[in-house]
This record gives sequence, C-alpha cells and structure tokens, in this order.
Amino acid sequence: MSDSCLFCRIVRKEIPAKIVMENEHVVAFRDIDPKAPTHVLVVPREHVATLDDARSAPMLGELMLAAAAIARDEGIVEGGYRAVVNCGANAGQTVFHVHLHLLGGRKLNWPPG
Ligand code: AMP
Ligand code: ZN
Repeated sequence: MSDSCLFCRIVRKEIPAKIVMENEHVVAFRDIDPKAPTHVLVVPREHVATLDDARSAPMLGELMLAAAAIARDEGIVEGGYRAVVNCGANAGQTVFHVHLHLLGGRKLNWPPG
C-alpha cells in the first residue's frame, strides 16, 4: 500500500473509478483516457511499482486471467484484443503501480508506436 499511489487509492476506493471487476487479488477499471472502445486497466491490490519489481507468479497470473475474463464479458474475444504492460520510460509507463492494459473493440496496429 502506498498513500500517494493513484492506483492504490483507486483500489481503496478513495478515488472514483469505473470498476468493471474485482476479486481478492485484482481490481479492474476503465481507463480515464481510453485508447480503444474497450480499455480496461487491471491492477493488483498489492502495491508493486513496475513489472520489473514483480516477483509473484500468482499475482501476475491473476492479472492475465482477469483480463481474459473481462474480454469475454466485454464481447471482444471474437474480434481479438491486446493485453499489455508498459514498464519504464521507453514504454511510456506513467503510473508506477503495475497494471495490465486490456484493449479491444477496434483493429490494433502492430508494432505499437
Ligand atoms: P501507463 O502509461 O502504462 O502507466 O498507463 C497509465 C494509464 O492510467 C493511462 O492509460 C491513463 O490514461 C490511466 N489513468 C491515469 N489516471 C487514471 C484514473 N484516475 N483512472 C483511470 N485511469 C487512469
Ligand atoms: Zn500503488
């Protein structure tokens, strides 16, 4: 837990967010600045700053499984979707509480910019 971390504050419901799913391991909410018709962030309840700091395979697995479940709920499996983690400056990470982006509902370019 971090007092100043934005996503810890969303996990604690101190800051409002459009939560789409939560369980004992993760909280998922809509990105405030969506880059696709479905753009959901999945975060662990525990504070871990980046993917490089993550040491828990179960925690990382819960992020991925939650994203796949949300993709089914959102109806984007047939069209296809992307699940991505930005780590550090070159990837453009701006919030230092590890999070998985679930993006879908439109054709996604590859490679990303
Ligand atoms: P990243 O660039 O990978 O660190 O992604 C951070 C994401 O958090 C960006 O896509 C932001 O639009 C999103 N974001 C920032 N503040 C909020 C917020 N209060 N609620 C929901 N999403 C947010
Ligand atoms: Zn945090």
